[in-house]
Amino acid sequence: MFNRNEYISDIEWKRFLEASKDFATPNIFINLRSIRQHFIQLKDSFPYAHIFYAVKANPGIPVIKMLSELGANFDIASRYELDKVLSLNISPDRISYGNTIKKACDISYFYEKGVRMFATDSKEDLKNIAKCAPKSRIYVRILVENSSTADWPLSRKFGCHPDMAYDLLVQARDMGLTPYGISFHVGSQQRDIGQWNDAIAKTKYLFESIEEEEGIKLSMINMGGGFPAHYIQPSNELSDYASEITRYLQDDFGEDIPMIALEPGRSLVGDSGVLTSEVVLISRKNNTALQRWVYLDTGKFNGLIETLDESIKYPVITEKDGSREGEVILAGPTCDSADIMYEQLKYKLPVDLKIGDKVYWLTTGAYTSSYASVGFNGFPPIKTYYITEDGVVDENGNPVTNGGV
Ligand SMILES: *Cc1c(COP(=O)(O)O)cnc(C)c1O
Repeated sequence: MFNRNEYISDIEWKRFLEASKDFATPNIFINLRSIRQHFIQLKDSFPYAHIFYAVKANPGIPVIKMLSELGANFDIASRYELDKVLSLNISPDRISYGNTIKKACDISYFYEKGVRMFATDSKEDLKNIAKCAPKSRIYVRILVENSSTADWPLSRKFGCHPDMAYDLLVQARDMGLTPYGISFHVGSQQRDIGQWNDAIAKTKYLFESIEEEEGIKLSMINMGGGFPAHYIQPSNELSDYASEITRYLQDDFGEDIPMIALEPGRSLVGDSGVLTSEVVLISRKNNTALQRWVYLDTGKFNGLIETLDESIKYPVITEKDGSREGEVILAGPTCDSADIMYEQLKYKLPVDLKIGDKVYWLTTGAYTSSYASVGFNGFPPIKTYYITEDGVVDENGNPVTNGGV
């Protein structure tokens, strides 16, 4: 159904097969070389931007370590992510606390550890920041509409109306904090580049009005994530995103473009992953049913949560691709009937697919293993391995010799 070459080169595929051949399924292999290439491409496309990697997309230590060496900063959402990043000797001035939903004690924790940049979108949170992290830099997240063209929207829950953002920045100043900038997130896997145009225009308006009326000169625009990974629904190339978005910035800000921060997650790590599953059972619901149910040894509760509402459409391939295909419903192994990945979408797999065959899910480097349940039905969370230039390591960066088969 899918042409593997569109997603992963022959060389990298062979490298993956060689690295993963002795490992028990299900598992995810992350190719660090791919993440490095995506990071360099992003830097080249947005040479003026400061990149804050959204750690939640793939929190493996080998990823954080490599991106740190490449000069990335980090967008952190919890004290646990913070501990992990600091344990790698990454300086707190490269970290921003981007979660607008946080406890006062967690703000204090970040402050004690040296973090001085905080996102907010509400009065109560701002008050906590003023109390627990005095004088810190504040950026306010504004609401943007993105529900229909982002495959995994991040709207509604985060951000506030620009009028409120204005008020919060003024209050931040009055509370002794440093009003620093505006952020937005146009929705993850955002396929409509024009969404950045609207958000930048709103931002420009805020920059201007707050300077004119309050004398507050903001310094930063944090344009969030939203850049695409390569799934089956087409999206533009990153270079198109960069040239369009840069033009929006120039149109609105002319020569006076503020500091620009980006918070990519999916677009850096998504393409790097291959999830390997095994067919547990193939059945039909009646004697003449045309569709087969194909049950795999992993599912929604073990790495594939973003198939919720069939939102993210992963390319799925087998070793029998090229032979005749028929429609399937793809489901996981647990005793929950929600554990179905694709039913509306008509995936096709070879008619000679057998129990025990491997089914590979491409582009599974982002938002997969960290979302796995701790043990629903007793199934342990899917294991992630990282292919480095010196062999395979686990999520702590330790060499792995035994694949558990
Ligand atoms: C998840 C998240 C990101 C990353 O978004 P992607 O679409 O994966 O690039 C960036 N910023 C914030 C605040 C996030 O919550």
